[in-house]
Amino acid sequence: MPSIKFEKVEKIYSDNDFNALRNINLLIKQGEFVSVVGRSGAGKTTLTKLIYAGELPTKGDVYFGKKNTKDIKRKHLPYFRRNFGTVFQDFKLLPHKTVFENVAYALEVVGVSTKDILKEVPKILSMVDILEKSEEYPRQLSGGEQQKTALARALINRPKVIIADEPTGNLDPVSSQEIIKLLLKINDLGTTVVLATHDKDIVDKAGRRVVTLENGKVVSDQANGGYVI
Ligand code: ADP
Repeated sequence: MPSIKFEKVEKIYSDNDFNALRNINLLIKQGEFVSVVGRSGAGKTTLTKLIYAGELPTKGDVYFGKKNTKDIKRKHLPYFRRNFGTVFQDFKLLPHKTVFENVAYALEVVGVSTKDILKEVPKILSMVDILEKSEEYPRQLSGGEQQKTALARALINRPKVIIADEPTGNLDPVSSQEIIKLLLKINDLGTTVVLATHDKDIVDKAGRRVVTLENGKVVSDQANGGYVI
């Protein structure tokens, strides 16, 4: 199963010459749950983007299994990205589609049959505990419910890795905890989880490995003493 590996990675954004990541060396094994923490601007989002080739390193290499992200041809990017499910602070749901349709759409675009869509979508909605809202539109949902929908959409193609970038940034503490519990459950089922957040409390609740970034550098990497929910 593919690991994620950063080797001597530097990321300098060319538009402003900003050194967002400096000499990152990191190994994330398949099946791990890793929280990436640090204050705003520390480089968390940049690090997550490098994993799914949303950005390429300026120096050094990022591997997913044996694949160096630098070597992926543009036309193969959509296929490569199927390894990853992503969730963000702002949910990114399609406003004119229902919960069901938002999740179904991720299957439609990769050519899954209607029969399979009707079978698979309710299963995943039930797993994230949002099945009863299937026919609602995003604007009718709470933030927590929207994030559960986004998580269902991220999971529906059975990615190897879930990348969650500040997934609780717009949520109240109770909803935040629910999302973290779901990420832990998904991880227990074998999916790698990379969680980027500035919220130390959330990370303590996850109780797993914590990589801390400061000014683009890894300043600590701990198995973590946090407590488990
Ligand atoms: P975090 O997620 O920890 O807030 P980011 O990875 O978003 O950190 O940003 C790290 C630094 O890189 C910040 O100073 C930010 O301004 C800069 N940065 C991020 N994205 C870009 C970009 N596309 N172009 C230029 N600078 C960027």
